[in-house]
Amino acid sequence: MAAGSAIQIPTRLPLLLTHESVLLPGSTMRTSVDSPRNMQLVRSRLLKGTSLRSTIIGVIPNTSDPTSDCDDLPNLHRIGTAALAVQVVGSNWPKPHYTLLVTGLCRFQILQLLKEKPYPVAEVQQLDRLEQFTNGHKSEEELGELSEQFYKYAVQLVEMLDMSVPAVAKLRRLLDNLPREALPDILTSIIRTTNQEKLQILDAVRLEERFKMTIPLLVRQIEGLKLLQKTRKSKQDDDKRVVAIRPNRRISHGSVTEDEEEEEDHDDVVMLEKKIRTSSMSEQALKVCLKEIKRLKKMPQSMPEYALTRNYLELMVELPWNKSTKDRLEIRAARIVLDNDHYAMEKLKKRVLEYLAVRQLKNNLKGPILCFVGPPGVGKTSVGRSIAKTLGREFHRIALGGVCDQSDIRGHRRTYVGSMPGRIINGLKTVGVNNPVFLLDEVDKLAKSLQGDPAAALLEVLDPEQNHSFTDHYLNVAFDLSQVLFIATANTTATIPPALLDRMEVIQVPGYTQEEKIEIAHRHLIPKQLEQHGLTPQQIQIPQVTTLGIITRYTREAGVRALDRKLGAICRAVAVKVAEGQHKEAKPGRAEVGEGEDCKEHITEDAKPESISDTADLALPPEMPILIDFHALKDILGPPLYDMEVSERLNQPGVAIGLAWTPLGGEIMFVEASRMDGEGQLILTGQLGDVMKESAHLAISWLRSNAKRYQLTNASGSFDLLDNTDIHLHFPAGAVTKDGPSAGVTIVTCLASLFSGRLVCSDVAMTGEITLRGLVLPVGGIKDKVLAAHRAGLKRIIIPQRNEKDLEEIAVHVRQDLTFVLAGCLDEVLNAAFDGGFAVKARLEHLNSKL
Ligand code: ADP
Repeated sequence: MAAGSAIQIPTRLPLLLTHESVLLPGSTMRTSVDSPRNMQLVRSRLLKGTSLRSTIIGVIPNTSDPTSDCDDLPNLHRIGTAALAVQVVGSNWPKPHYTLLVTGLCRFQILQLLKEKPYPVAEVQQLDRLEQFTNGHKSEEELGELSEQFYKYAVQLVEMLDMSVPAVAKLRRLLDNLPREALPDILTSIIRTTNQEKLQILDAVRLEERFKMTIPLLVRQIEGLKLLQKTRKSKQDDDKRVVAIRPNRRISHGSVTEDEEEEEDHDDVVMLEKKIRTSSMSEQALKVCLKEIKRLKKMPQSMPEYALTRNYLELMVELPWNKSTKDRLEIRAARIVLDNDHYAMEKLKKRVLEYLAVRQLKNNLKGPILCFVGPPGVGKTSVGRSIAKTLGREFHRIALGGVCDQSDIRGHRRTYVGSMPGRIINGLKTVGVNNPVFLLDEVDKLAKSLQGDPAAALLEVLDPEQNHSFTDHYLNVAFDLSQVLFIATANTTATIPPALLDRMEVIQVPGYTQEEKIEIAHRHLIPKQLEQHGLTPQQIQIPQVTTLGIITRYTREAGVRALDRKLGAICRAVAVKVAEGQHKEAKPGRAEVGEGEDCKEHITEDAKPESISDTADLALPPEMPILIDFHALKDILGPPLYDMEVSERLNQPGVAIGLAWTPLGGEIMFVEASRMDGEGQLILTGQLGDVMKESAHLAISWLRSNAKRYQLTNASGSFDLLDNTDIHLHFPAGAVTKDGPSAGVTIVTCLASLFSGRLVCSDVAMTGEITLRGLVLPVGGIKDKVLAAHRAGLKRIIIPQRNEKDLEEIAVHVRQDLTFVLAGCLDEVLNAAFDGGFAVKARLEHLNSKL
């Protein structure tokens, strides 16, 4: 390689530090790059640079690079080999790892270290004068006998090898073609030598010295070979493998592959094989793994497939083929755990206990899969966790929201770099046992895309008839999932694919009432938040009225997640105060602040001083316990987010409050209407679905047909309501798509208010579907809707008569706060919605005529 070319290496070289192997000029070495400095060097000098100059690096042997880049650089070996980086291979997954192929050019000596970070750079002096190789004859003469002697030994050694191996034949030719000066380095890297010996050859800068040192090594190798040939004469066939030089060693134009790394790696592979053989994987899996390991052994390490296969085999070994936790199911204990962890949700807890009891008796899992459906923050995930706890099983949550690729469930085929197993197999690897509780979170948010339907893949996972042999594409062998307990959660059943829904038993988890929320906050959320913030009940007190304040003024949700967050914000603010106080208290001369009733009373009487952001007395430590009252609440959480909205918005005709059901729970919804001159058009805004638009048309038709009866007129006094009039109906929160028939009664009421000029009662909310004839039909989600109305402080609720049975599900104290009007037809709705009823003109006329 070097012959004929005058190579001058740069005077400044970035240094690659190798730990064990020694690169000699003229040979090639593969080194794995994993220390931070080497990694930096490869990234910034080799992966970007394109010119030859930028790819010449200095390889310093025998120096392990510190594992962290902030550690000091150890002493460097003074002599190194300038090398050409020939190839960089590697992958960034699962962690960045590169393998570098370098070819040694010549020796150099470090004159001065210029910098250490991010990778060392040194000023160097070239030691081997490569240009002298051009007139090889002269140096041959100079070295005379020594070089001749060396050459003879080298020929003798090579001729003892099997010439039919192409690499050996090539080496033989190289001996004649290469300049003699290059031979000691090259042969030293071919024959079996220790690193120490190689280091000595590297340090032998003078050529004469180098020849002298290598001759004994050659002789030793020749003797060794002779001995081997003698003992193995009977097995002629094996000769080529027995000799010290491996036939598959790459010898190309003076470059010889360094293979110590390979040997090390070989050991790893042997270990892996051992692990595979001793693991408890299925027979089929074992067969595949043994086949793969056979391939791995033959594969060069630099091949991208090598890393892939290795990762695969490591995963196979790690998977819990036969490892499981022992179930400890005791129904009484389960009941206690569920009760301790969760307040209310009786229906859900009852069903969960039934499910567990059946499992205990039947001892198999071929029952339906439980699916908890309800708004966010109502404790679906946390019940799943409690189930795992009662069974003594591992718990793993798999978030399915937005998953649109079936490979997410079933894994990628192992045909490309970056392929990996699906979430199920990954989860099993994480938990390390084959019988965990898997919570499939948000199954209603699975999406479809060109990459296949993840729901179909889930079907296979959940089907007890199929899942004992679930085949992940990555594994490509069956894995038994039948011991896994699957639980699913969703916000709504509407978007769960029907086939999937069919496999599951849906358990509705409705939102909480204000009273339930207060209890949950005081029994569970506040103690948990205090613990997380390192506070004790002696340091902070949140009275129930404050909690109610947070619930009504700072949150509007069916669950308790926002409430939990607000409580967290309060604890953070208090933690700062307490920490400041402790700091001050630590100073001498400061009287201990007493705990207990007296102190508390004092604070309650005078709310101002202990208010959290009262900066005036920042210098003083706060009194304990810090009482969170409304002032403090405002300081910490800011002004209330939801305040008196209802009555403000109902102060003009053409507004009514409807009740809507959304996957996030029930909500109140203002329907607004206005009229203007026009050609009788009905304008609808607020992102309405088709069903809702139809309801609007039904409502207007019914009102037009009953205009005379109710004395409803347009602006010019005509009973034809749409004559020269346009009507605009708007459903606020315009960014949210709305659909469903249940707004019918609200639209009618809103329009009746508009055309009659009367105000709808500000404390009435309603829901119900209408027909053209004015009947009110039942709708769904009554419980959530009623809770939403209750949350918003409404007092009277109009619901369809046929929904009366749904009221039984509502807690007694909520029912007591509300008045329910059961309406069978629109007359009854209007009568209840307006103060003093909504007079029916026709009946009056009828009476008049009688008189
Ligand atoms: P989801 O999965 O329904 O969205 P999570 O299970 O994540 O809700 O619940 C949110 C938080 O509320 C959790 O910290 C949970 O412990 C708490 N939580 C919800 N419901 C209850 C309850 N009934 N009793 C105690 N804590 C609850």
